[in-house]
Amino acid sequence: MDRVRIVVEGIVQGVGFRPHVHGLATARGLAGFVRNDGRGVVIEVEGRPSDLDGFLHEVRGGAPDLAVIHRLRTTALAPSGETGFRIVASRVEGRDTLVSPDVATCGACLQELRDPSDRRHRYPFLNCTACGPRFTIIRDLPYDRPRTTMAAFAMCDACRAEYDDPGDRRFHAQPTACPACGPRLALRGQGGVVLDGEAALDEAAAALRAGRIVAVKGLGGYHLACDATDGEAVARLRRRKAREVKPLALMVEGAETARRLCHLSQGEEALLTSARRPIVLLRKRSDAASAVSRAVAPGHRYLGLMLPYTPLHHLLLEEVGRPLVMTSGNRTDEPIAFRDEDALGRLAGVADLFLLHDRPIEVSADDSVTRFVLGGEMPLRRSRGYAPQPLVLSRDVPVPLLAVGGHLKNTFCLARGRHAFISHHVGDLETLETYRALDEGIGHYRRLFGIEPRVVVHDLHPDYLSTRVARELADAEDLERVEVQHHHAHVAACMAEHGLEEPVIGVAFDGTGYGSDGAVWGGEFLVVRCGEFRRAGHLAYVPLPGGEAAVREPLRMALSHLDAAFGDGAEEILEELAPGRSPDGDEVRLALLRRMLRKGVASPPTSSVGRLFDAVSVILGAHEGPARYEGEPAVALEMAADPTAEDAYPVVLEDAEDGSWRWKTAEILQALVRHLRLGASRGQVAGRFHRTVAEAVVVGCGRIRRDEGLDRVVLSGGVFQNALLLEVAVSRLAETGFDVLVHRRVPPNDGGLSLGQAAVAAERIRSGTVSLVTGARDGAFVTGAGSDGRALPNDGAERSSRSSPSPLRE
Ligand code: ZN
Ligand code: ZN
Ligand code: FE
Repeated sequence: MDRVRIVVEGIVQGVGFRPHVHGLATARGLAGFVRNDGRGVVIEVEGRPSDLDGFLHEVRGGAPDLAVIHRLRTTALAPSGETGFRIVASRVEGRDTLVSPDVATCGACLQELRDPSDRRHRYPFLNCTACGPRFTIIRDLPYDRPRTTMAAFAMCDACRAEYDDPGDRRFHAQPTACPACGPRLALRGQGGVVLDGEAALDEAAAALRAGRIVAVKGLGGYHLACDATDGEAVARLRRRKAREVKPLALMVEGAETARRLCHLSQGEEALLTSARRPIVLLRKRSDAASAVSRAVAPGHRYLGLMLPYTPLHHLLLEEVGRPLVMTSGNRTDEPIAFRDEDALGRLAGVADLFLLHDRPIEVSADDSVTRFVLGGEMPLRRSRGYAPQPLVLSRDVPVPLLAVGGHLKNTFCLARGRHAFISHHVGDLETLETYRALDEGIGHYRRLFGIEPRVVVHDLHPDYLSTRVARELADAEDLERVEVQHHHAHVAACMAEHGLEEPVIGVAFDGTGYGSDGAVWGGEFLVVRCGEFRRAGHLAYVPLPGGEAAVREPLRMALSHLDAAFGDGAEEILEELAPGRSPDGDEVRLALLRRMLRKGVASPPTSSVGRLFDAVSVILGAHEGPARYEGEPAVALEMAADPTAEDAYPVVLEDAEDGSWRWKTAEILQALVRHLRLGASRGQVAGRFHRTVAEAVVVGCGRIRRDEGLDRVVLSGGVFQNALLLEVAVSRLAETGFDVLVHRRVPPNDGGLSLGQAAVAAERIRSGTVSLVTGARDGAFVTGAGSDGRALPNDGAERSSRSSPSPLRE
């Protein structure tokens, strides 16, 4: 008898590899076990040497379709006399990726890139098993070259030899390439290709140094690049892209340059240099203004920095020798351009030159945006480098699910078993193009992961384009539908990240979300059991004059909150504190607006904390005029705030008849106006306002703790992207004995909704709140079973895809 340990590395988890191994071992009467671990799959087998050889051969040669074996190592062990063969539970969950996200160029490849004696010296597309494009080039699974956009490139003999050699670091590196056989660089002007290869790179770099705008084809789409030190170039880019003030991301050569521009903690540096290579929000150094143009992030305390993540980026940054603005290749509100023809068309009026190549991008993936806060990562946009790595849930979803996400910052989520595949960033569903991008994205993921959803989950909002996508899909494929309230989904997303099922206090503060009562919610204190919620309290309703128009024109919200606090004096106070900030200075219009909100004409009630930030920003004079992007006034307020401000304005909760309570804003506005009239600085008032909102979180949670005995708090919603508010709220909650959880894997903003929707639907199906009746597709009658093996309750009654938004109350 011999015993041998086999470590199989690669994409071998979640693909039926262990059962396969189990089958092979038992067929040969071998003893031992197989288990997943952080590196792949570990097998130990014991038996006759000839059987072991045969087994090894079959493991290597006959792996399941979805598995990709990068490396297989064997070690001889002493036989233990074990009998029987077992599949042992995994030791480590985590690297459970079916399709790897794209990975930044690794150190070994970078060395080759810079080594004049290497055959890949200065080759912009070199990669290996440990790095390079993945998700964005994969057309289909199993993941191998013919199913990627590298299919058209035939490997040369040298590349083929590396690819076939299990000892080589390019063993089974599907996108491997070299100058002799791989993709090539080209530079295009308005008239067509002008240069290729090294000359294209030189010319692009020279153009950038001369202040021109170059569209650069990257990993998940096109960037628009310009010299970040050149104010005129940045202004031109903003004009052409129709992006007036929203901060632009920068790419810098390395961590050294980043450190010259921004303060960099250890955690921040780790994110910046990680293989995912996200854009990291970093606090600007006071002298950074001299190093990059003010126009990059006007009025901001932060810069969004990223490091090069493809060989082409490395070469370009080295050539230019300056930080580059690298913003998504699109005009505002459009999805990122990633197909060459589309990019050449859509970006023709924006870019002077195109630096592109002939390796097609299959799926777009915008750069991810993240930050380091409270000792950990908090993603703000989870896309390239993260997607489609699944989040591992604490339990299996009972049936495969598709959750279509929200309206802004849309992502969708396909869940099967314990895996939640959250998509790349789709974008704001404001245009036909993004609507199409969502539809196509869903199709691609379904094909790629072979997930046939039984249930489609969407927001309660009847008019969201995502809701329409869900309805169409449900009709076309006879799927069950589940609706999930927006803020419930926010909180559930954070719970799913942390594997929480027991009830928590969920605080969801954001801009806009459709409430169960039809009002515009956004300042919610919820008691959440994963599948259900109860609205314990919320920011007191004020009118949202003109609905969406109030988002674009934050002055309307200022008027609304002042009216709630002061009644008839509201317009005068606005004139006094924010003179000339009324639309065209038109008093008649203000009076009209107020009549409108008093009468409730086109003015739905809102409890939005995001809109409260808007209002205060205008009253303070931190923001003027229309909001040029969602959240601009709130960001201005955060930037204006003096973080050392200590006091807070009064927080008042008022009981409602139904046992819930309202957090009133009148007292806050009254105190804030008094403070301003006493001559307090904008920074002090803004700082104190932040403290106040944090205090309201503490008071609201305290009230729920008293009533329900809960002391775990989950913070979610776009408002908690505000780092100052988040930090103060979390530290105050901790001081008062709460256990606080924040987002670490998906964004607190609407980019995280799809995960929450999926989690809620799974829980409702599990608990029987939503019962599934199988449709005509397979003619069966009984539904799937829960993870614990119990059949789901199913009385065979009518189809019940509608579920009440809150089974507990409201
Ligand atoms: Zn590499
Ligand atoms: Zn080659
Ligand atoms: Fe939201």
